[in-house]
Amino acid sequence: MKLTFLGAAGEVTGSCFLVEAPGLRFLVDCGMFQGGREADAKNAQPFAFDPRALDFVLITHAHIDHSGLLPRLAAEGFRGPIYATEATADLLAVMLLDAAHIQEKEAEWRERGRRRREAAAPPLYTVIEAQACLAQLKPVAYDAEVAPHPSVRCRFRDAGHILGSAIVEARVTAGGQTRRLVFSGDLGQPGRPIVRDPTPVAEADVLVVESTYGNRLHKPLDETLDELVAALDETIVKRRGNVVIPAFAVGRTQDLLYLLADLHRSHRLPPVQVYVDSPMATKATAITIRHADILDAPTRAQLDWLRTNPAQPRFSFVQDVEESMALDRVRHGAVIIAASGMCDGGRIRHHLAANLPRPESSIVFTGFQAQGTLGRRIVDGAREVRIFGEDIPVRARVHTIGGLSAHADQAALLGWLRKFRAPPRQTFVVHGEAATADLFAQTVREQLGWGATVPARGATITLP
Ligand code: ZN
Repeated sequence: MKLTFLGAAGEVTGSCFLVEAPGLRFLVDCGMFQGGREADAKNAQPFAFDPRALDFVLITHAHIDHSGLLPRLAAEGFRGPIYATEATADLLAVMLLDAAHIQEKEAEWRERGRRRREAAAPPLYTVIEAQACLAQLKPVAYDAEVAPHPSVRCRFRDAGHILGSAIVEARVTAGGQTRRLVFSGDLGQPGRPIVRDPTPVAEADVLVVESTYGNRLHKPLDETLDELVAALDETIVKRRGNVVIPAFAVGRTQDLLYLLADLHRSHRLPPVQVYVDSPMATKATAITIRHADILDAPTRAQLDWLRTNPAQPRFSFVQDVEESMALDRVRHGAVIIAASGMCDGGRIRHHLAANLPRPESSIVFTGFQAQGTLGRRIVDGAREVRIFGEDIPVRARVHTIGGLSAHADQAALLGWLRKFRAPPRQTFVVHGEAATADLFAQTVREQLGWGATVPARGATITLP
């Protein structure tokens, strides 16, 4: 039996693992590489295997760096089933179409900007191709056993990272021997809103574990809430401005809505009107509510309270562009949550253009801002930024609230590993920047005494 690390090896994106045995070949995740030109080149590279020869694919969760190349895989001949949890399947229907739409738009810009006689690169995949691959999805319930192949049994366990996220346990029988492979997917931080805590796993022969924040500890949620309240009070009550929050449509926006409703319930929220200005976030929120049965207990209690209590917080979901543009005329009392989370696209840009020049407004960042993004320039203290070809002065206050990560920190990762009854025979540390993955593997070796290593991209391991 062989395991090949095709992505998220020494980096955080492009998750894709190939498992092979005689008469069997499947993938766990088929993610897109993200972040700059190098990533674009990797996404366009031919697959390291023949897509037609795959039996099936297992998807841990809907984030594009775990699922974003599925349409390309299907367009290049993969016709088998794609297994994912029910909520992941619902989110993929929204997210893969959105990703395809972005691919088409970018290809259009390349076509317009190309020099004569030079061919512009086509889209990685089209909306039609994304739609086609959605038909291959096979939604499965958490913890249910599925048999995607006569020699494979697998289960999806709640990973507590985003709605529908899963740890994949696969029992693979080859040459008369059965081995238990466990892929952590992305693991959530225990005690965070919306999703349940990551499910402990007791047994693995081979473990592939993420390490995004394997080098640090997150702030407690209480401290984060206090920071959010302080920013809202200062901006809305004292300075009479607006609060603009760039947030990813899936995950972070729902976390924020939960926290704001919670503050409202405990009478800590100043009088505000909250606008969610992202059609994708609106869809993701509806999908989250539809899957209330897999949410954590505090979130279910909050949904019940919202349904029965007349003193609702004032939340509006903005649909059309005109309505979105009209928000820029609101002078004070608005909390505007919009995508993208790093401000490099989407409706957030015009809210920034309207509020950055106003010293009475605030911009509140709740997530990581990658190098080279507009969000990063603002966080780094730029006095002026360029939006829609105009130089916009930065006079609004900028807050960074750190404790909302959807990834387990070092202590939570180690805590999850400690639940294994015996050390896995092999442990591979993936999905972390090279230095972070190395440090986490070293921590696992020192603190748990396990033989953890960081595989190189493209490395194939023969399982003993
Ligand atoms: Zn993720």
